[in-house]
Amino acid sequence: MHKQIDVTEIFGSNVFNDRVMKERLPKDTYKALKKTIQEGLPLSLDVANVVASAMKDWAIEKGATHYTHWFQPLTGRTAEKHDSFIAPTEDGTVIMEFSGKQLTQGEPDASSFPSGGLRSTFEARGYTAWDCTSPAFLKTDASENVTLCIPTAFCSYTSEALDKKTPLLRSMEAVSKQAVRVLKVLGNKTVRRVTSTVGPEQEYFLIDKACYEKRLDLIVSGRALFGAPAPKGQELEDQYFGAIKDRIADFMRDLDIELWKMGISSKTKHNEVAPSQYEMAPIFSTTNIAADHNQLVMETMQKVALRHNLVCLLHEKPFAGVNGSGKHNNWSLSTDDGQNLLEPGRTPAENEQFLIFVSAMIMAVDRHADKLRASCGNPGNDLRLGANEAPPAIISIFMGDEFTEILEGIAKGKKVENRGQHFVQVGVDSLPQLPKDNTDRNRTSPFAFTGNKFEFRMVGSSASISGPNIVINVIAAEALDEIATRLEKAGKSGLHKEATAIIRDTMKKHGRVIFNGNNYSDEWVVEAKRRGLPNIKTGVEALASMATPEAVKLFEKYKVLSKGELHARHEIYLEHYVKHVNIEARASVHMVKRQYLPTVIGFTRDLARTVSKLKSVAVSSKVQKELLGEVTELLESASEKLTVLEEAIEKAHAVKDLVKRSEAFRDKVVVAAGELRKDIDALEGLMPASLWPVPTYAEMLFKL
Ligand code: ADP
Ligand code: MG
Repeated sequence: MHKQIDVTEIFGSNVFNDRVMKERLPKDTYKALKKTIQEGLPLSLDVANVVASAMKDWAIEKGATHYTHWFQPLTGRTAEKHDSFIAPTEDGTVIMEFSGKQLTQGEPDASSFPSGGLRSTFEARGYTAWDCTSPAFLKTDASENVTLCIPTAFCSYTSEALDKKTPLLRSMEAVSKQAVRVLKVLGNKTVRRVTSTVGPEQEYFLIDKACYEKRLDLIVSGRALFGAPAPKGQELEDQYFGAIKDRIADFMRDLDIELWKMGISSKTKHNEVAPSQYEMAPIFSTTNIAADHNQLVMETMQKVALRHNLVCLLHEKPFAGVNGSGKHNNWSLSTDDGQNLLEPGRTPAENEQFLIFVSAMIMAVDRHADKLRASCGNPGNDLRLGANEAPPAIISIFMGDEFTEILEGIAKGKKVENRGQHFVQVGVDSLPQLPKDNTDRNRTSPFAFTGNKFEFRMVGSSASISGPNIVINVIAAEALDEIATRLEKAGKSGLHKEATAIIRDTMKKHGRVIFNGNNYSDEWVVEAKRRGLPNIKTGVEALASMATPEAVKLFEKYKVLSKGELHARHEIYLEHYVKHVNIEARASVHMVKRQYLPTVIGFTRDLARTVSKLKSVAVSSKVQKELLGEVTELLESASEKLTVLEEAIEKAHAVKDLVKRSEAFRDKVVVAAGELRKDIDALEGLMPASLWPVPTYAEMLFKL
């Protein structure tokens, strides 16, 4: 039995949050720090010294001996280097020390992080700078090690961003500035800041640790590179929202507790569509904090799983044939006076402000579909987007019938009526009437309006959410900038006419991006092509849009990424793709040479002996011979395909140009590995289960 827990007591207990700051900081210090957090004003060293000392005392009381500047390099993971608080004294003892300088600035040796040529190794220094808008927290582990973590941005000596946080913060500034302009001209004079908010739903798989340890592919690449489908997949639809098994519930409970301690508002948990697949959703927060928290969520899931003899797989497509994992990035804009700018209210047709902000998003997404696609272009996602699984690689917006009607009506100059409150008729008198959502939830759209926010569903499950949100913020900033300029020019008297004109122009130019039908259908692919919407099938291809002159102009204009920073990112992500595919391919070669082929060869040897023995006693060996023939044929084919794969790897490495090298890995290596897999999976179907050297799909997916 578990001890009863007091969630309100646990929640945020490991966070240096507002309550702790209020309690522990002198009033003046607290006020100065708050000003910095809210208005981005610089922090004086005096204030930093006081904050650092209070933070250290708090952390030590909670068992910490070390602190770390916690940052997010371009690997997509997080990084930390722990320093203890100790400082020697003259009498050979130590005291515990933590200065304002140590809090606000760090200098990790950064030579081994990807920089895309922004920094050569001889000037390897990188700097970390405290991001006080995301609260410091304590990380604890099962053996009660406690570390004070200070969220930081990471940049080079020459101030170029080497991380995911810096441009995210810059993009939040950009969208805030332009949104405030729009609100001002529409008559709202009091709003000073607009924050982009995000609630990322995280999907994941859990498998037994013992299975995991027997599979090199899972260990090195996070996905099963081989494996025939189990007799059962997800066709019975019995996993989605199914009753949660005890072992999983135990894991989820521990996960919640760990997340709550760190102030992460884990809210929803359920079984997902594929066998052994699950989801966790937090309550939304400021984008920056949501991004930090999502990193912690992924890390904590993996850590806690191990305590339960489970392994958490965050890969986008760990198992062929069943659904992969994504992250639903719910995004909106909220004002410092508490308005959600994507809230339509009860009469959306009259809500000019709402319609303007929605128009901005339609404009932004249509113009920059390629960049949104690029922001989700990691190697794992290639196996989801545009492959045999949803969401598709074509970016479109779902608005739902009512909003589409309103927008189209305005565009055509018609008077649009609000539909008023609708009720769903359940047909049973004793059940309450349910108010009908203005949007019936289309689950196939990659960018769906879901009542008061947009849900971007392309993001990969293993990816940092920073990249996608940087793009959403910056493209929204550009559209809002354009709209603000038009409205400002129109002046007070022409304001409403111009607002209508903006909606009309948006629908005319960008209405093509709205699609309310089934995005998974073949007809949509044809229709999207007719509309001129891009269908970018692979990450490598999509990433090219990050480095175009048009992208440089956009990101530089809103001071989110410089040309150098963009080019560096393009290079780093391509390199990441190459390395990732290379690891997978080498794991395939390794497993085939050292596990599958020897097993099959042993089997054919025994089978051949059986055949000759049966012959010597004049008994029929028809069945054995047939099997031997089939297995041998596949064995020979697999062996040939292995050679093809090995040659493809070698050739791809020899390609000098990075883009071409990535293409070689995508078009040759991935394809060759896929071909090899077909034979191995076919062999798995013919061989005795007792001889198969690795756990099967059925064992991995159905035995928990
Ligand atoms: P589902 O999409 O699974 O039906 P919900 O609509 O309740 O679930 O919410 C999904 C996620 O969207 C949650 O993380 C929620 O906090 C988040 N969300 C809700 N409102 C906003 C908002 N204004 N901005 C960003 N995220 C939001
Ligand atoms: Mg959702």
